[in-house]
Amino acid sequence: MKVTERLAEAKDTIVSFEILPPTKGKSIESIYGHLDQLMEFNPAFINVTYHRAEQILKTRKDGRLEWVEIRKRPGTVGICAALMNKYKIEAIPHLICGGFSKEETENALIDLDFLGIKNVLALRGDAAVGEKFFTPNPHGHRYAEDLVRQIVDLNHGRYMEEEIIEGAKTDFCIGVAGYPEKHFEAPNVETDIYYLKRKIDLGGDYVTTQLFYNNEHYYNFIKKCREHDITVPIIPGLKPLTNKKQLTMIPRVFNVEVPVELYTEMMKAKTDADCEKVGTEWLLHQCRDLLKNNAKVLHFYTLGKPSVVYNVLKQLF
Ligand code: FAD
Repeated sequence: MKVTERLAEAKDTIVSFEILPPTKGKSIESIYGHLDQLMEFNPAFINVTYHRAEQILKTRKDGRLEWVEIRKRPGTVGICAALMNKYKIEAIPHLICGGFSKEETENALIDLDFLGIKNVLALRGDAAVGEKFFTPNPHGHRYAEDLVRQIVDLNHGRYMEEEIIEGAKTDFCIGVAGYPEKHFEAPNVETDIYYLKRKIDLGGDYVTTQLFYNNEHYYNFIKKCREHDITVPIIPGLKPLTNKKQLTMIPRVFNVEVPVELYTEMMKAKTDADCEKVGTEWLLHQCRDLLKNNAKVLHFYTLGKPSVVYNVLKQLF
């Protein structure tokens, strides 16, 4: 079922999760171990992230150095198919522009369609490791909106090869990313929302937000989006903060604020277990506030800490 249809029929707040494929060499059992306990909350869908290949300098047998391209977390599409099969649940693969030609993207979309996948999250992706700015593949897309356009084309049966007339129509529901605290490259909030609206006008069906720790950012973002006639659902992204290292890592990687109260409580914590308790309490408080404000979905970036999300959900539902 499409995300938009699931949201439209939901009477109560639903939950969803985002997971990362395991690093190459690990088994899919690590994903099941992660998700099994969370299935108790009957998630509406599970997002699976996509990770672009990285250039790594390797020493050859003759001692010379060479650049090698390695994808550390392959398997997004396979995991989606496996999750749908095992849990009978909607899986949402993330699709990124970075590193892909338009043709590779078209072929990936054909695979997803054949697998019966109905939802995709269309993203630009970040700059490659070692690059300061995002550089598109010479035959690929520069912005997420270009990817949205390509998916919409396929939904209309329009393929890259012009000889294909009346091609089979896909039927993807398209999610796009939104940033309550603004995307870090955007010069200001207004411009960022202007480009978000373009993604929606081109065919984006809903927005999933970047994580945030201060709900006011989310509420202000919704208000601004509505003022700019972005009327689609806006799903809040939530991630537990569970250790002191994240206090500096999360603002750096995700460009979001850690509120002073959360920072102060975390700094007071003496053990790892204390840190986890602070993170759990904060997430619980965020969720209760979102529920009070009629959030229709709570979307969790479960990453490495399913137990924290489990404990929060156990107290909520
Ligand atoms: P875009 O919408 O293209 O925006 C990028 C920047 O360009 C913004 O500053 C925007 O304001 C600006 N912009 C947009 N369109 C135009 C235009 N036409 N002209 C000029 N400026 C423009 N990354 C991954 O690699 N894999 C993942 O699985 C992944 N999952 C994510 C899931 C969520 C929910 C979120 C919020 C992010 C995710 N990311 C992922 C990170 C994301 O790829 C980065 O944040 C990336 O830097 C921007 O992606 P985007 O789709 O928002 O890009």
